[in-house]
Amino acid sequence: MPSYETFTDSDAAFAQAQLGRPMRGVAGVAYRCPAGHPGVLATYPRLPGGPPFPTTYYLICPNAVLAVSRLEASGIMAEMTAKLSTDPGLAEAYRVAHEAYLSDREALAREIGDEVPEIAGFSAGGMPTRVKCLHALVGHALAAGPGVNPIGDEALALMGDFCSEATSAGEETSSDD
Ligand SMILES: [Zn+2]
Repeated sequence: MPSYETFTDSDAAFAQAQLGRPMRGVAGVAYRCPAGHPGVLATYPRLPGGPPFPTTYYLICPNAVLAVSRLEASGIMAEMTAKLSTDPGLAEAYRVAHEAYLSDREALAREIGDEVPEIAGFSAGGMPTRVKCLHALVGHALAAGPGVNPIGDEALALMGDFCSEATSAGEETSSDD
């Protein structure tokens, strides 16, 4: 089951400042950074009457987005994908993470009385067999806590203390990925 805190007015203002537009379809704050702002938003898989929204755990902390973008630019995703084909234990843990992601999204879909069949079986970030977007995988790892998404956990370990209490948040603009 996904767990999240209330998405407050100040969280909404923070999200809008990062995205340059209001963030819609938010279920709650799935991870809050030590500085107090939302780090990951849990989102409903569809806005009323709209297309599916597959990024159930949306990484919004600008410091995290920047750190993940740097990591992606290092070419590490190809290494991680290669490791999935040579390490059966890692591959299995990643497949379980994929199932957990889908299960959380299904719970969110039930909250809005929708099934969102268009994205059934499709999670995010390249799961279950590839590594295509670390933003999605890190978002999942932060929301779920350690031990759920092995690739997201590995990326977080490489990122270090990406958003400490002393970081002045909201000054950097996030990418829209
Ligand atoms: Zn942050």
